Amino acid sequence: MKNKILVTGSAGYIGSTFVNEALKRNYTVVGIDNYSNSNSDITDYFSESYPENFSFHNLDIRDSSTIKKMINMEQEINTLIHFAALKSVEESTKKPDLYWNNNVLGTIKLLEAIKNSGIKNIIFSSSASVYGDQEKQPVNEALNPKPTSKYAETKLECEEVVKNFCMGKETKAISLRYFNPVASHSDFLIYEDYNNSNNLMSIILQAAKKTISTIKIFGNDYATRDGTGERDFIHIQDLIDGHFAALEKINSIKNYHVINLGTGKGATVFEVIHTFEKVNNTKFEIEIAKRRCGDIEKNFADVSKAKQVLNWQSRYNLEKMCKDAWEAIQE
Ligand code: NAD
Repeated sequence: MKNKILVTGSAGYIGSTFVNEALKRNYTVVGIDNYSNSNSDITDYFSESYPENFSFHNLDIRDSSTIKKMINMEQEINTLIHFAALKSVEESTKKPDLYWNNNVLGTIKLLEAIKNSGIKNIIFSSSASVYGDQEKQPVNEALNPKPTSKYAETKLECEEVVKNFCMGKETKAISLRYFNPVASHSDFLIYEDYNNSNNLMSIILQAAKKTISTIKIFGNDYATRDGTGERDFIHIQDLIDGHFAALEKINSIKNYHVINLGTGKGATVFEVIHTFEKVNNTKFEIEIAKRRCGDIEKNFADVSKAKQVLNWQSRYNLEKMCKDAWEAIQE
């Protein structure tokens, strides 16, 4: 029997990319989103293209009672994939209460809604930002997390909420710690809203589209190969495949696992920019600025647990990520 999956954040970048692939694989999906950081374009497309297998509810994850009723009405949902969250590190420092309320209280309320339902499997979108500044690289799941932003604190707290929820129950859960997802599914239907995002790939795309004239690099004096910060970028298609691996294995795992989804390879800011220039035949103006408060030197994944527990590993390299990120936003 194929899963019937409840997907929160189903209109967002990662959630909708997952839904697109799940529908192509013939899963049945019930989507929830309050469109606080998205719109109805992609969910309308899913409703029109997959009327049998996709239903959508414009709901807030904090609205437990409506979600509970909806789950009863939908019937036979057995899995929850919880993508919905606010994700801006910068905004979280200005509005910590909003982030705590939306992300942590939201997760508590959502889990309240699924209590005593048929949902026995949970996959939660966590973040590599929970690691913070770790001396030991690559980072593995056994390290003590040291979040450096309110956003990362909310993700870590949500992991605890999910873990406690399934303890002593037959419910199984996996928190997937995403590293830095970039690019687009091969359909090029969905891409991150790069004009309203300030991660490195979004800034590169803004520069490539000439909506900004220079790329500002914050710090070139880190102890890395070329002095710029080093991160683990992962193609979104690999990231989404990791969710299907988790779906396949979740019934055979013990109660709860935290698992990194990354490539295991670090790329510096310069390396990403130069790779993008090379594969897309372009050139950027660069400006070196001071380090930003809260930024860390390096963060890349130890991926051995993902291989061992999920039998999953990434396939795509940085060249492919840069190529697909650009291809997806062509008119
Ligand atoms: P996104 O903002 O594109 O998607 C999140 C979706 O959740 C949006 O459509 C938003 O409207 C919805 N949402 C937010 N709060 C909600 C609420 N209270 N009720 C209902 N819907 C709500 O973000 P994304 O990049 O797709 O991220 C998905 C998940 O992955 C998040 O949990 C995020 O923390 C995590 N994550 C993302 C990244 C990344 O770089 N994109 C990295 C690590 C972890």
